[in-house]
Amino acid sequence: MSRVYNFSAGPAVLPEEVLLEAQREMLDYHGCGMSVNEMSHRSKTFDSIIQTAEQDLRDLYNIPDNYKVLFLQGGASQQFAAIPMNLMKNKKAGYIITGQWAKKACQEASIYGEAVQLASSADKTFSYLPDCSDLPITDDMDYVYICKNNTIYGTHFNTLPNTKGKDLVADVSSCFLSEPEDISKYGIIYGGVQKNVGPAGLVISIIREDLIRDDVLPFTPTMLKFKTQADNGSLYNTPNCWSIYICGLVFKWLKAQGGLVEMQKRNEEKAKILYDYLDQSKMFKGTVRVEDRSLMNVPFVTDSEELNAKFIKEATAEGLVSLKGHRTVGGMRASIYNAMPKEGVEKLVAFMDQFEKANG
Ligand code: PMP
Repeated sequence: MSRVYNFSAGPAVLPEEVLLEAQREMLDYHGCGMSVNEMSHRSKTFDSIIQTAEQDLRDLYNIPDNYKVLFLQGGASQQFAAIPMNLMKNKKAGYIITGQWAKKACQEASIYGEAVQLASSADKTFSYLPDCSDLPITDDMDYVYICKNNTIYGTHFNTLPNTKGKDLVADVSSCFLSEPEDISKYGIIYGGVQKNVGPAGLVISIIREDLIRDDVLPFTPTMLKFKTQADNGSLYNTPNCWSIYICGLVFKWLKAQGGLVEMQKRNEEKAKILYDYLDQSKMFKGTVRVEDRSLMNVPFVTDSEELNAKFIKEATAEGLVSLKGHRTVGGMRASIYNAMPKEGVEKLVAFMDQFEKANG
């Protein structure tokens, strides 16, 4: 077996211990003689899997009792529609545009109501976060929306925006469980799990109970009503059983590592190794304003397309894979999620240094 260091933005690296545990349990889950892939979502065994996963997530994030946890499908992209459908009573919401995913969410919301752009960092290719201390938020807005960690551009809200009392809705797909959160600061905090938590095909949404209502926009499909999902414990129809199971294993793994305070500490340590190197390099440059840097996604460039391509090719041969940057930024991007070991980042930096010396 030869495992690489996988810097993919998502689907992405998972803890090896979790993959091995899933392998051990693949044919016979806890003595029930079948795989999780084969069992009814209405069985007692699966009920215990989903209940335990929810409780472990509640423990990790310290989720208050007045929040529901929903296990949903359709990717984060489907929530771009579900959120306005469920929340736009006044048919108006504010969006902070910090990258493609916030932009797509805003465009989707504008199908259902007025999606106002409150601020944007498009002028500098989303390489920073706009000042969100005094946004033009009006009384009739139903919520304020952010993408907390911008996977493509490598920015992260280190301070949440001043929403002037409006509910904050946050997409945390690429920083899910990478740091502790005060859940009570959000109306909805949600993310696709395929970056930091588990296999693709599952979105976890943590929603304050009063936002789960009957009076949604009239055309909202049954499946997209938060109330349908909440009333049925995320089992209105057949959920993504496999992903819920693996996420549950990851939650246990996170608890065993010491929880989210410990994960944040490790993530800070790992990111510092890479950023410290970038800050002194004469060849590689980070693309993000220092105070807005993400701990999860680190884009960087050289000043030559040829060098970028050579670097990616040679890094791949060294077992450092999926380092190509997003097509809109170019260059490289290292995604260093929870499951990326420190050794992976150290090996990447050692290789960058070697490459710089050989090609500088
Ligand atoms: N939001 C963010 C921050 C993302 O990084 C992504 C996927 N890269 C999405 C939303 C879209 O996720 P999905 O593919 O699950 O719809």
